[in-house]
Amino acid sequence: MFDIVIIGSGPGGYTAAIRAAQLGFKTAIVEKYSNLGGTCTNVGCIPSKALLDSSENYHSVKTRFAVQGIEVGALKLNFQQMFLRKSEVVKQNVSGINYLMKKNKIEVIYGTASFVTNNELSVKAADGSANSVKSKYFIVATGSKPSSIPGVEIDKNRIITSTEALSLSAKPDSIVIIGGGVIGVEMASIYARIGVKVTIIEYADSLIPTMDKELGKELQKVLTKTGITVLVNQKVQAAKNNGESVTVKYLDTANAEKEISAEYCLVAVGRKPYTAGLGLENTKIELDPKGRIKTDTRLRTAEGNIYAIGDVIEGVMLAHKAEEEGVLAVEVIHGEKPHINYNLIPGVVYTWPEVASVGYTEEQLKEKGIAYNKGKFPFSASGRARASGDTEGFSKVLTDPKYGEVLGVHIIGARAADIIAQAVVAMEFEVTDSALGKISYAHPTYSETLKDAYLMASGSGALNI
Ligand code: FAD
Ligand code: NAD
Repeated sequence: MFDIVIIGSGPGGYTAAIRAAQLGFKTAIVEKYSNLGGTCTNVGCIPSKALLDSSENYHSVKTRFAVQGIEVGALKLNFQQMFLRKSEVVKQNVSGINYLMKKNKIEVIYGTASFVTNNELSVKAADGSANSVKSKYFIVATGSKPSSIPGVEIDKNRIITSTEALSLSAKPDSIVIIGGGVIGVEMASIYARIGVKVTIIEYADSLIPTMDKELGKELQKVLTKTGITVLVNQKVQAAKNNGESVTVKYLDTANAEKEISAEYCLVAVGRKPYTAGLGLENTKIELDPKGRIKTDTRLRTAEGNIYAIGDVIEGVMLAHKAEEEGVLAVEVIHGEKPHINYNLIPGVVYTWPEVASVGYTEEQLKEKGIAYNKGKFPFSASGRARASGDTEGFSKVLTDPKYGEVLGVHIIGARAADIIAQAVVAMEFEVTDSALGKISYAHPTYSETLKDAYLMASGSGALNI
């Protein structure tokens, strides 16, 4: 009998397992695949970032070196090596998780878990054998799978998801991507940088439409410069596999029927929670209309001893959100009163330049009728950005006019993914815009763009523009 058994070894599950072991619980983790790490490590965050870095390096040498006086001979892309390295990076991360499980004495059980009762799982191994696993508590961390839209059937051959797009065996000539959200723009960047003809077809009126609108507009300019065709306000109707190619039919802004053909069609229209085969019918656990496991604010399901975290429940589908929830669930079981500020979970898009955001968007503040001051500083006015040639983008801060509290920070620019951490700290501890404009930022750094944006929002005026 275990104290806590976690189902699913993604970032939510493995983090929960480590925290449970640290707190002295007898812990096991069940994973249906032969590799630990879940979507993020195997077919998500890690492989996509490895390919984003490699493709950006290639593109950089091709387009940015000559002006810096660096002349390279004939530049050659070894597609297979690029993808082999990606797989090696995944392997290193998987073995890192194996090490952490061993170090923390967490029992790893490979097989598909299904609830028999609220205290017992049946775990079916790859060889067909089934074992009973009993525990006082369970944490469901079974994640998500790609979803599609009517008329578009994913066949994993020509009509593919991010999983296949991260493992193509040869460089294609062309890809059409349905959806200009996070996966759409990241995968478009990887392939366009290495010379693939990429078209993004997005339903909303801008790319990454859930983020602050100005970010999507700036990103569209950047991606268009890389050679990506971006079509917004388009309704995809159907996709057909023709054998060697795919044809995608869509309605354009004037509702006229259009079609486009490419070697692959990547479907990137969101992901859905994954609970298939989990035996939830043998428990009191309920799903919401979107198929997500319902929990209370303590992440407890309708079964008092079963918790759920990460992509399989409500909220943003991000690895660090899953991790925070894993820790919270375990600490609640331990009798503590932990807290997650869901408004302060940063969102990052690993294009180049990167996009990073935390807190309210300008659109949300307008909709809620909340007054705000805005400070927006362009990277083109940053000495650091000029030195590296990364002058695209801006840092934008939205602050409360009366008290100077930071309400939202939205950055598109070099290393935005790392800069955003400062904004999260500032917001968590309610540092004011004028205080943030008075502390010292190393010069020259990209982070100085934030200092000037805070100064602008606080009314004292930027020092560098
Ligand atoms: P998952 O990582 O999905 O793990 C769930 C695990 O549960 C899986 O291993 C699955 O096999 C296992 N499982 C399911 N059912 C059972 C069962 N019955 N028995 C046993 N095991 C089971 N997020 C970021 O924050 N940053 C990024 O840069 C980022 N990039 C991404 C890129 C791509 C291409 C994709 C697809 C996603 C990306 N994400 C990123 C999102 C991130 O991967 C997810 O938010 C995260 O993996 C969710 O973690 P999780 O623990 O909830 O579930
Ligand atoms: P998403 O929700 O980010 O984007 C889906 C996009 O598809 C949206 O822009 C939506 O308007 C569009 N869309 C929906 N229906 C459409 C249609 N019929 N025609 C054209 N466009 C349509 O989802 P995603 O990009 O698939 O990513 C899935 C999840 O994975 C996200 O929740 C994301 O948070 C996570 N993820 C995160 C990262 C990161 O943190 N860097 C990277 C990749 C994925």
